Amino acid sequence: MSGVDLSSLNGPQQEGWHCALCNARLFADRSLGVHRIISCGQEIDVELWACRPDCHTAARNAQRNRRSCSYLPGWSS
Ligand SMILES: [Zn+2]
Repeated sequence: MSGVDLSSLNGPQQEGWHCALCNARLFADRSLGVHRIISCGQEIDVELWACRPDCHTAARNAQRNRRSCSYLPGWSS
């Protein structure tokens, strides 16, 4: 339903740091609900998260943020 490939989730995705759909670092997120996954051979229930409002828009915003960062003093180091 949510389009998540549970078999290919990595650690940060399972822990809610990265988008469960596109693996981007999450800054604004939305819940995909609780999913049962296999972690270290054990079935566990984890809440998965994805980019908000959607992966495409979030990626565009991240690009804009990166560009604006280059104008910060001291960023070039
Ligand atoms: Zn995403």
